[in-house]
Amino acid sequence: MVSGDISIHVENNNHYSDLVIMLEGVTTVSMQHEVGVKLQSTQTFLRLSQKTRIDSPGIFPFTFVIPSALPTESCSHVVSDPLVRYAHTALPPSLGGKTPCATESNKTDTLTPNAVQIRYCIKATLQACQQDHEPVLSTIREIYVIPTLSSERPPPAFTPARSDSDKPSQLALEKHKSPMKAQIVRNIFRRKEGRLVSEVLQAGPLTMHLHRQRPTEATIPLRLRYYSDSGVHPRLHNLTISIRASTFFGLSPSPDISYQNQSQQSSVYTKSLHIATQDMSNTTWEATPCLTETDPQIEMKYEALVPVSFSLSPDRPFVPTFHSCVVGRSYELEVRVYYQVGRETIFPRRITTTLPLVITMSNR
Ligand SMILES: [Zn+2]
Repeated sequence: MVSGDISIHVENNNHYSDLVIMLEGVTTVSMQHEVGVKLQSTQTFLRLSQKTRIDSPGIFPFTFVIPSALPTESCSHVVSDPLVRYAHTALPPSLGGKTPCATESNKTDTLTPNAVQIRYCIKATLQACQQDHEPVLSTIREIYVIPTLSSERPPPAFTPARSDSDKPSQLALEKHKSPMKAQIVRNIFRRKEGRLVSEVLQAGPLTMHLHRQRPTEATIPLRLRYYSDSGVHPRLHNLTISIRASTFFGLSPSPDISYQNQSQQSSVYTKSLHIATQDMSNTTWEATPCLTETDPQIEMKYEALVPVSFSLSPDRPFVPTFHSCVVGRSYELEVRVYYQVGRETIFPRRITTTLPLVITMSNR
């Protein structure tokens, strides 16, 4: 609920008639065309209004209830799946510019490109009776909206898989496979030493419900497997955890969740934030004789299970994951393990595993 007062002070007692107070939500996307022309698209996705007939200056209260879902008319374009319409009619968060009380640098919304803005505002317009003499008086106040979890309207159960290929990204959450990355390890003589596999033991994306006041903690299990040709396992140094925020935007509404099949009319802005570093020097490898007969070179299989813990502080500029008609935000968790093999004294090697992350906001 958003409420307040419009106070009208006028020196001359003119005969005013209508005071229109509106709550508007507007998305603006601007893009630079190849030839240097700046293109801008504006979408008003929410408009609530109330009208009061007034005949003298004074204080006029207003109250609006922001719905948890947008009106269906706000998304009337062609969609590839009904789930897309459901996602597009969820309330998007305020995006771009500074968050309220932005005194510290980390409160600035560094994750959103300048080309994208989602703004909510209260607009009051006073219509003068003598329209030939008096101009219309108006005032505007921006409000900051972060949608919180609502039981009446749960968030859409999917997240776009980020792909660099031309194929449209997978829509259904269930199709998401646990991310895994294998890396062939070679020694300084370029001979194969073994194969390292990093895997997050998590079915589907990780969902985090952030709180406005306190940090939110999470632990995910990371499994490392090393198929050794030389009989030794790598030495683990540490791991870093970062969050990669991707802001998808386009000049025209996207028929799907990926925003990627519109070529020049759409873009993605990606930014990573380092979240935590975890020491791994005390991690123990468990050796198991390798039973696979297919690769006779493999001598030993080593396995290590590492609980990766981190917390997200409310100071971080995260908004909930959302996919509106022209702008979307999704997150990925990036776990990077630094390790060394054999007696190498060079810089540690690294292996990166990513996991889709869905962020929701809780008001409790
Ligand atoms: Zn739409």
